[in-house]
Amino acid sequence: MSKIEAEVLSANAEYAADFGDKGDLAMPPARQFAILTCMDARLDPAKYAGLAEGDAHVIRNAGGRASDDAIRSLVISYKLLGTREWFVIHHTDCGMETFTSETMGELLAGSLKTARVDENGWHDSNAGGGTSDGKYINWLAFSDNARSVVEDVERIRNNSMVPGDIPIHGYIYDCKTGKLVEVPEASKAGRAA
Ligand SMILES: [Zn+2]
Repeated sequence: MSKIEAEVLSANAEYAADFGDKGDLAMPPARQFAILTCMDARLDPAKYAGLAEGDAHVIRNAGGRASDDAIRSLVISYKLLGTREWFVIHHTDCGMETFTSETMGELLAGSLKTARVDENGWHDSNAGGGTSDGKYINWLAFSDNARSVVEDVERIRNNSMVPGDIPIHGYIYDCKTGKLVEVPEASKAGRAA
């Protein structure tokens, strides 16, 4: 067993020992809302948004982008599980601002090793064994953080499967302060009809 696996199982044993009545929680989120946010390790939605088990849906991906799969989850979230209000939350210093789809394609073509970054951008070891498959994927990187929140809220708002009466709020989490800062243009675009 790897060190990490052992640590995870040890932490889980402690968690389960104090599980209390959480086994009785219902599947639909009790507070009827959902958050779409970035997978960044510095973000803990349960802490920054005050969630307990059973409270809300949290959908995470690289960038907190409104990808087709994120929208799939949001539609299930309201249609089958009753959420009535959504948040799109990106954050400062997001890794998605450090590359483009073209960069990612080139890095994967160089090798499958972890790339390194410095002040001049990303570099691959070019050790070989790479693939051109990454050049066919839209990696959903962005250069303007606030703009990306607006675009994602608009993309969700304009989806034919998303009801107009679900408000969609747009925010940026500040990694330096832990504060959520609203992106007014995004929240405006996400207003309930
Ligand atoms: Zn991020």
